[in-house]
Amino acid sequence: MTTNTPQKKSDPHRVSIDIFIEHAQEGDYITLPFEMPPGMEMLHLSYAYARYAHPETQTESGLFTGRVGVNIIDLGLIGPDGEQVGASGSDKRDISISETWATPGYRAVPLAPGTWQILIGAYQVAPQGVRVTYELEFTPKAMRLLKGDLHTHTLASDGILTLEELGQHARRHGLDFLAITDHNQMISKDALPAIPGLTMIPGVEWSHYLGHANFVGVDRPFDGPYFTNNLEETQKVFTTARERGALITLNHPFEESCPFAFDMDALPFDVLEVWNGPMRESNLRAMALWQGLLAGGKKVPICGGSDYHRDRLFQILGGPTMCVYAQSSGMTDILAAVRGGRGFITFSPEGPLLNMWCGEALMGDSLDFKVGQSLSLDFKGLQQGDVVKAITPEAIVDIFTAPTAGEYRCEVPVTAPGFMRVEVWRVFLPGIPPLPALLSNPIYFDQAA
Ligand SMILES: [Zn+2]
Ligand SMILES: [Zn+2]
Repeated sequence: MTTNTPQKKSDPHRVSIDIFIEHAQEGDYITLPFEMPPGMEMLHLSYAYARYAHPETQTESGLFTGRVGVNIIDLGLIGPDGEQVGASGSDKRDISISETWATPGYRAVPLAPGTWQILIGAYQVAPQGVRVTYELEFTPKAMRLLKGDLHTHTLASDGILTLEELGQHARRHGLDFLAITDHNQMISKDALPAIPGLTMIPGVEWSHYLGHANFVGVDRPFDGPYFTNNLEETQKVFTTARERGALITLNHPFEESCPFAFDMDALPFDVLEVWNGPMRESNLRAMALWQGLLAGGKKVPICGGSDYHRDRLFQILGGPTMCVYAQSSGMTDILAAVRGGRGFITFSPEGPLLNMWCGEALMGDSLDFKVGQSLSLDFKGLQQGDVVKAITPEAIVDIFTAPTAGEYRCEVPVTAPGFMRVEVWRVFLPGIPPLPALLSNPIYFDQAA
């Protein structure tokens, strides 16, 4: 018979489970359930038992202590869907699992709440049985600022770097996440290299003569070949991508060589790419389009991406950088933050950076408009002469000009329902007019019913 003590509840993020295995169970596989709490980023599991006995042998010359293996207990892990997360025989005494990284032998998977199971392989059990202790440690998710690039190309289309080279390049540039979006080339998450500190995200840039869109976060956003010859076929591609959970971004809507000529209202999408590669006329037009959508009452989040192919004078990886406030560094949380407008686009991984809130509401959130509300802004990495502007449905107001480089905090009153968002404009080169260095998503102030 197998007995195990109840899970200790004193620290909700640490759980210890004891199990006694009888010699008669040798050769059995036993599963031991445990509950994964919601909102966890990392699971660390370790286990301990008496692996060896140390028999003493008395001889004429003295006492000798030997070491003989008496117990071998194998480890595996099963997710709440009943699928094997991994198995490691008796080789590893502790393992870690998260969506971005797992101990080799285990899959990096989101820690879905529910009943998970430890797989116990009772390979060898001593005549007197063995007690095995499992220690589980759960690390909760916590909000953090992550920097990434949502639009990049590799050798698989018209870029020049391999996946591995691009990933390493992204890490050197200080990016935390990177979406791979080759033209009409899907890539599976399993094919992406594991680069410590970098969340690589599968994607595809669906590229049609009438417009480009990124489908991000799923291996196979649509079936069959990419081409479409009418709106109905195009809608089928987009609706399939949405059903499968892809983040859909409409790319560079006014790019001269490939503008977005489809009817935007006829296709489902999540985010508008208003900043593609170096800031230029086509991006300024995309920003104006976005402002029009917002002023018309649509809550459309924005994204930016470098559209990186190779290092060129004005094209660098992370230029611009998409910054998001995400609950973890897992792909699911990063894409949820992008989809929720919980972030801003900035000139480069070095910034400038922004935190913006109104009470509990962050960028992307909606709250009821009330007289007396104000927007809190917290900037890092402003340069001397940077101009901070607040934008509402009706007006663009200069809030301040940074007198010196550094960090700035300020409060801006919210005077009417609608939305408020922020732009930072910078003179990048003497003699050239200022251009955006940062674009925030809005906080929405709904007219209370
Ligand atoms: Zn494109
Ligand atoms: Zn592209």
